[in-house]
Amino acid sequence: MGFATDCIHAGQEPDPSTGAVVTPIFQTSTYVQEGIGRHKGYEYARTQNPTRRALEKNLAALEGGTDAYCFASGMAATNAVLSLVKAGERVVVSDNVYGGTHRLFTKVLARYEVAFEFLEAGDADALDARAGDFSMLWIETPTNPLMKVCDIAALAAAAHRRGALLVVDNTFMSPFFQRPLALGADVVVHSTTKFLNGHSDSVGGVAVVREGAHGEWLRFVQNAAGAILSPFDSWLVLRGTKTLAVRMPRHEENTLRVAPFLRDHPKVRRVYWPGFPDHPGHDVHRRQAGGFGALVSFDVGSLDAARRLLGAVRLCSLGESLGGVETLISHPATMTHAGYTQAERDELGIGDGLVRISVGIEDASDLVADLRQALDAV
Ligand code: PLP
Repeated sequence: MGFATDCIHAGQEPDPSTGAVVTPIFQTSTYVQEGIGRHKGYEYARTQNPTRRALEKNLAALEGGTDAYCFASGMAATNAVLSLVKAGERVVVSDNVYGGTHRLFTKVLARYEVAFEFLEAGDADALDARAGDFSMLWIETPTNPLMKVCDIAALAAAAHRRGALLVVDNTFMSPFFQRPLALGADVVVHSTTKFLNGHSDSVGGVAVVREGAHGEWLRFVQNAAGAILSPFDSWLVLRGTKTLAVRMPRHEENTLRVAPFLRDHPKVRRVYWPGFPDHPGHDVHRRQAGGFGALVSFDVGSLDAARRLLGAVRLCSLGESLGGVETLISHPATMTHAGYTQAERDELGIGDGLVRISVGIEDASDLVADLRQALDAV
């Protein structure tokens, strides 16, 4: 089936007991068993839940994976995927990732004798030459918040030459624009909190796999560690994915208005968006993705200027997160990337004047008007 059809139908056959068109919220902790070892495939709701399962099948179809596993947040999904790595192994990470991912790797998982090295991944050949041996390569593309593009197919080849896995956090693009498994990635992770849910009313995460063995392990970890997505959140994300194929083009249409407006504005020093033909990753991104998405970062020069801008926006909401129907604007240095040290942020180029916008699906002219009046205050 086509992508939009899968969004609406994959994993969501009408409920067999009632015919309900919409997958019900199975709000139960356990299931009656007919006898010892005789049940309908559902024993206890940490282990199996039909609403969660429907979402997992839906997301597996959208990402082109063999299966998917939903967790209580994007970070819980990330943590579960990292349990594929053992003590003594090395993980290479694209140097600019979501601050929470950096925090989990450096402050929590590094305690378990897993070595993390953050490397510039925009040039796949250079990474291949520098990276040494590793058992997992973890990337985002485009990266958060600097919108650097990583070549998924080339990095998959570099990982596979070492017998390692490539994991792609595909939160920024959603499977509507980018499907990393088809390009050679082994696991795709999402914060479902973002575009998949799309309405800023649920926190969740998913890991989508190609290989049965990885899936079996993640299912085991779901049950063993228990950081599962609730039935209600599963239902909210299912409702969100139904409209993914209409929301994403609209997000992008608005971004095509907002990004050039920002670039032309005299108070804006630099705009980071892979849709510009002179963006260093433009061609690679064009080759591997069907669109440029709705995340744009821009530099207004100083903390003071960023503060004035963020204090002056009226329609754009100042807040962490992204991917909702409403436009969200944030300050990476003090919000999403506060987990990096100042020195790390300086080295990466996440300056105090950097602002990130997640362009929503309001009227583009209203968004441009709001940003114009707010930039006047800078
Ligand atoms: N990955 C990316 C790219 C994100 O932006 C985020 C959150 O902002 C996460 C992962 C973590 O997801 P969650 O907030 O659902 O735990």
